Amino acid sequence: MKNDQTKIPQATAKRLPLYYRFLENLSASGKQRVSSTELSEAVKVDSATIRRDFSYFGALGKKGYGYNVNYLLSFFRKTLDQDELTKVILVGVGNLGTAFLHYNFSKNNNTQIVMAFDVDENKIGSEVGGVQIHNLKNLKEEMDPEVTVAILTVPSAPAQKIADQLVEAGIQGILNFTPARLDVPEKVRVHHIDLSVELQSLVYFLKHYPV
Ligand code: ATP
Repeated sequence: MKNDQTKIPQATAKRLPLYYRFLENLSASGKQRVSSTELSEAVKVDSATIRRDFSYFGALGKKGYGYNVNYLLSFFRKTLDQDELTKVILVGVGNLGTAFLHYNFSKNNNTQIVMAFDVDENKIGSEVGGVQIHNLKNLKEEMDPEVTVAILTVPSAPAQKIADQLVEAGIQGILNFTPARLDVPEKVRVHHIDLSVELQSLVYFLKHYPV
């Protein structure tokens, strides 16, 4: 994100891709305006939060009119750097990694997995979902220098060592799907998605905080 957007709170920033996806669908269906109530029902974020989020970037909806879809969309496109393709690498082409390689991220946003890495000799040199699998040993030499983001789908045991290697190769953001908590330098951002913890937490909440 660019410097002039650093004042947007992190919680708001995290919701931007959600808003963006919904507004893109609205625009594709020819809708020119949307109210915060409509948005709220679609993205499941309460309308007061939406109004506050939007006020951070100067989009003040008009009473009885709502928000201009194309204005919002062009703002989000710029903010989320959607005008440029963001290239991403993936490390660990197991079951989860394979699913991500087949999943077309670029259908919904402008990111694309351009290379994958693994240590398994049987996988190295082959292609999954049109993406070539490289030897992790050669990460630094073979990595596209434009890439700054990596998706990590390896077992937890080697995760830290691989994270060190990724940082060494110039990676600035890691989407960590392993259960391991990673130690990285301050300048590197890790977003952690532990699917089994999320599932456990959902089951717990259903039991103890029924809606
Ligand atoms: P599979 O059935 O292909 O083994 P899985 O998801 O059950 O898939 P995992 O053991 O979680 O397998 O491993 C995920 C992927 O990470 C595999 O492709 C494996 O070869 C790879 N992997 C394991 N150790 C490393 C490592 N040190 N560096 C890079 N990749 C690794």
